[in-house]
Amino acid sequence: MALLYKADPERGRSWQALFAEHAPDIEVRLWPEVGDPADIRYLMAWQPPQNLGDFPNLEVVFATSAGVDQFDLSQLPEHVPVVRMQDPGIVQGIVEYACMAVLSLHRRLPLYLHQQRQGRWQEQPWQPARHTRVGVMGLGLLGKAVLAQLTHLGFNLRGWSRSPQQLDGVSCFAGIEQLPQFLGQCDILICLLPLTEHTRGLLDARTLGALPHGASLINLGRGAHLVEQDLLLALDNGQLSHAILDVVQEEPAAEQHPFWKHPNIWLTPHIGAVTLPESAFAPLLDNLRRHQQGQPMCGVINKNQGY
Ligand code: NAP
Repeated sequence: MALLYKADPERGRSWQALFAEHAPDIEVRLWPEVGDPADIRYLMAWQPPQNLGDFPNLEVVFATSAGVDQFDLSQLPEHVPVVRMQDPGIVQGIVEYACMAVLSLHRRLPLYLHQQRQGRWQEQPWQPARHTRVGVMGLGLLGKAVLAQLTHLGFNLRGWSRSPQQLDGVSCFAGIEQLPQFLGQCDILICLLPLTEHTRGLLDARTLGALPHGASLINLGRGAHLVEQDLLLALDNGQLSHAILDVVQEEPAAEQHPFWKHPNIWLTPHIGAVTLPESAFAPLLDNLRRHQQGQPMCGVINKNQGY
């Protein structure tokens, strides 16, 4: 019985070593060394190979990422479940990034850095965290973890999801009908949505225009959530004051991309969170064993919903 790994080769060798030590009954093969395709029961991939029909005994596809928007779900065999990565290391990374970004905006770091470069020693008004309203789009594994940490920091919190949710200390909104009401209450908006046909381009002129004047955006979802030109306009006309972006439409961002040098944008190269074998192995193996025992796995994608 073999698992075929098709992603970063260096991490692949770490996965191989972890399986050899803790689950030697599952042989890990590193793409493109497939061996006999009939041996492959599991595929673990950032992007699956073109012809999955070549693997007649494939049972499960595990994504190496939390999002599966890079998969063409319609091309995957109907009977093969797709499972996203639910790695505590990813959660930790996203929580760290979100808190870093929210605190930076709340404590006006973009402005203080600007003042530093001008040699200007000038105090700006400060307000306690309870007066800063932070809204999270996407109340899944990551959005909830971010909100839990922001609760400890004392922020005034909102959340928005597809279906209604109840979270302690968070005013929750659901569905497209409640989106304007939610947006109108967000001084800082964090996107932690999956990329689907319903969320692509959601951060457009209309959405950004529904935020309070001078609000800020943190995009930790996917680049295609954001209409980049609309963000530039919103920053240039003062509707938004700052954006902290971990993702862009085309990655890596081109040399001439306007975000690189924009004074009101901080851009990072999709480093919000990285799947680390050391923390991701235990939940993945747990899922594999569940599957082998006929129990439901965690993180199975609803192929119709796209997440
Ligand atoms: P998740 O557990 O699947 O949660 C997704 C959340 O989004 C759910 O609350 C869901 O609503 C909501 N949602 C989906 N479609 C929606 C819609 N049309 N309108 C409103 N809400 C909608 O996902 P997750 O694990 O938290 O991950 C979220 C995303 O973060 C990933 O898909 C990926 O794009 C991104 N990510 C980025 C990085 C990075 O390094 N920057 C790393 C990891 C993940 P319901 O609760 O109603 O289902």
